Amino acid sequence: MPLRLFNTLSGQLDELVPADGDVLRMYACGPTVYDYGHIGNFRTFLQVDVLRRFLKLTGIRLRHVMNITDVDDKIIRNAAAAGIPISEYTPRYVDAFFEDLDSLRVEHPEQIARATQHIPRMVDLIQRLAAVGAAYQTEDGSWYFRLSAFPAYGKLSKKDLSGMEDGARVDVDEYEKDSARDFALWKAAKPGETAWDTAIGRGRPGWHIECSAMAMEYLGDSFDLHAGGEDLMFPHHENEIAQSETVTGKPFARHWMHVRFLLVDGRKMSKSEGNFYTLRDLLLKGYKASAIRLALISVPYRHQLNFTFDGLTEATHAIERLRTFHDRLTQTTLAAGENPALQEGAKKAQAEYMAALSNDLNTAEARAPIFELIRTANTAIDRGQFLAGDREAILAVLRDFDAVFDVLEDRDAEPTRRALAWAEQAGKMSEVAPELLAAQSLTDEEIEALVAERTMAKKQRNFARADQIRNQLAENGIVLEDSKDGVRWKRK
Ligand SMILES: [Zn+2]
Repeated sequence: MPLRLFNTLSGQLDELVPADGDVLRMYACGPTVYDYGHIGNFRTFLQVDVLRRFLKLTGIRLRHVMNITDVDDKIIRNAAAAGIPISEYTPRYVDAFFEDLDSLRVEHPEQIARATQHIPRMVDLIQRLAAVGAAYQTEDGSWYFRLSAFPAYGKLSKKDLSGMEDGARVDVDEYEKDSARDFALWKAAKPGETAWDTAIGRGRPGWHIECSAMAMEYLGDSFDLHAGGEDLMFPHHENEIAQSETVTGKPFARHWMHVRFLLVDGRKMSKSEGNFYTLRDLLLKGYKASAIRLALISVPYRHQLNFTFDGLTEATHAIERLRTFHDRLTQTTLAAGENPALQEGAKKAQAEYMAALSNDLNTAEARAPIFELIRTANTAIDRGQFLAGDREAILAVLRDFDAVFDVLEDRDAEPTRRALAWAEQAGKMSEVAPELLAAQSLTDEEIEALVAERTMAKKQRNFARADQIRNQLAENGIVLEDSKDGVRWKRK
C-alpha cells in the first residue's frame, strides 16, 4: 500500500514513491546548533522518523540527508558572547542533538552534512547564479539572490507577493515578512567573525544556500522529498527552490512535507511565557523518553499538537499497558490450538494500522486498532480463550506497530541517567524532580540485594521485614511486582 502524503507544493495528497523505482531520496532540514533542542524541534524530527520508519516497513529503501547548520547569525552571536570561535562553540550542541535523538529513538539519516564542511559547494552555486545574472554583489562584498530572476517565487508557500519591492534586500537568515526581498547568499566578513577566503570574497554563507548546496551534492538536482517544520516553508524553503531551480532549470524536490507547530497548554511555546521545554527539561522532571516520543508522535504531523503534562501521563499509561500486555503474551502458558476470532482480529488490526499510516501518516488512527486488539486479547487470556497458536499472530502485529512507534522495549533508564549526568555537569540538579532523585539514589545492585533479602525474609515468614523493604523501595520510587516466576522491579 503506497503512502499518500500531503504535498505542500501540489496542495494535495500525492503518492510518495521513489522516482527511480529503487531508492527514495529525501532531504530534511536539520538543527541549527546554537542551543539545546526544544520539544517543538523534536516533534519535527520525530515525525520525519515516523515517515522514515513507515516507508521502510513498506519495503522502500531510503537515502535521507540531513544538514547540520553550524554557521549562522545566532551561532556567531552566541559564540562571540561566549568569547570562543564557532568551531569551539558548536560541537557540544551537535553532540547534545544526537544524544537527544538517541534518547527519543529517532533513527539517524543515511547522510549527515555539516555546513562548514561544504563551503566550496556553496561558493560554486553562487558563482553559477552570478553567471546567469541571478546573484549580485553589493559594495560591502556580500552576495544577494535577485528575486526577479525567479518568477515562480512563492509557488510553495502560495504567498501573494504582489507587494514585492524590486531590489529590496534582507540580510538576516530568518525573517517573517510577507513581502519578499532579495536575500543574502553570502555575507562579507565583519571584524571578528568566522570567515572563509573564497573566489567570491572573504565571508560566510547565508543559511538558505547551505541547504540547496548540500541537498544537490548528495541527492542530485532533483529528488523525491524535502521535509521540515512549517516555520521553514517561508522564506527558507522558498529560497532553496529559487536558488536551486534557477541554476539547474529542473524541479528541486517533487514532494514537500511540513510538520505543524505544537502548542504547549494551548499557547505558543516561548521562554517569556514560561512554557518552553527542551527534551532535557522533561527528562529531569521525571518523564520517560518513551512517553515523550509517544506523546509527540501520536498527533498526526499535519495537526497542531497541544502538548500538556496530562498528555505525557496518558502516553506513560499507554506504554505501560503495551509493555504489560507484551510480557503477559510472552510469559503465559497457553493451551494448544487457534482461536479463529483472534486470528481474524489480528488481521483486521494489522490492515487498519497500515491503512491509517498510508493515509498521510495518521498516527492517531493507527494507534487505535492496536490498543483495541490488546483489550480483546487480554479478555481472551482472562477467559482461557487465547491459545498457543494465536500468540505469533498478535506478536506480528505488535512488531509492525513497534517498527514505527518503537516504545515497546523498556530502554528508558539510559536517557534518564544521561540527563541526570548532564544536569550534574551543567549545574542543574536543582531542576531535578525529587521523585526522580529518589529513584536514582539506589543502584541496580542495591535494589537487587534488597529484593533478594525481601524474598528470603518472606521464606522465613518474617513478614514485618519483607514489608519494611517493600516500603523502603516504594519511597525510592521502586515498584515491585510479585509473579510466579519471582519478583520483578522497576523504577516508577
Ligand atoms: Zn534547510
